Amino acid sequence: MTRKNSARHKAIVRRRIFIGLCALILALVTALIVFIVAAVTSRPEDGNTSDIPSSSEQTGTASSSVPSGTSDEGSDNNKSDAASSETDSVNATVNGELNPKYTNLLLVNGENPLPENYDTDVRKDLVEIDAKYRNNNYVTQIHKDVYPYITAMVAAAQADGVDLRVWSPFRSYAIQKDLFQKQVNRVGGDEAKAATVVARPGTSEHNTGLCADFNMASDAFENTEMYRWMVENAENYGFIMRYSEEKQPITGVIHESWHWRFVGINAAKEINDLGMCLEEYVEYLQKETS
Ligand SMILES: [Zn+2]
Repeated sequence: MTRKNSARHKAIVRRRIFIGLCALILALVTALIVFIVAAVTSRPEDGNTSDIPSSSEQTGTASSSVPSGTSDEGSDNNKSDAASSETDSVNATVNGELNPKYTNLLLVNGENPLPENYDTDVRKDLVEIDAKYRNNNYVTQIHKDVYPYITAMVAAAQADGVDLRVWSPFRSYAIQKDLFQKQVNRVGGDEAKAATVVARPGTSEHNTGLCADFNMASDAFENTEMYRWMVENAENYGFIMRYSEEKQPITGVIHESWHWRFVGINAAKEINDLGMCLEEYVEYLQKETS
């Protein structure tokens, strides 16, 4: 090999090494970009509705995109965005008083009507329930904090072969007023009697977006597999039976097997364990913290 050929050969080798290095760097950069894109796109989004709400033991796990069970102890602050929002029961009480921002335990009844502006305020927090979870096209919205739980609950019931459907979730003040008037007419103008069956406008939980009637607003619901499934499972999704026959003297409302109220998973389980209705539980919490 001549000196000239040798120099040319070295130049070719250098060029090949250079091209090889370029290719290697390009491959590394590509791999890095792919990795970053994959990491970003696989991040769970808030409001993903198909997963089952995780229990309090599973709070804050990266794979869980549904608000996790709230912690009454407030010891677990390393939670997902959704779980650390105002729905977290860590905010349930402030200086012994129920935090008005803590909507899960908002008590609405004949003695605790909603403030006048509530109807307007709540609307910005409402979301549309997907049609596959409901059997009513007239009223279709629920509070955004309840959405992941109610849809996961209905999906779980349906997976168990039980055709649970949301019948009546959020109702506006105007709709409630209309329903109440119809009930008043039905009972011959007796407003007090009507109020034991249909809440007066401003005193209905339905105006909060935190509750729902399921399948039908009828006593017939109590004899269905949907009802039996709810009695068995609703607390695992943060729902309680709001108006039992036993608690009618306290709630002032007849037993409504179809009406279920969202309070959060821990509160639902505690309410059931204590055998309380929401009125009693709110009072109990206030005493506990005062
Ligand atoms: Zn109801």
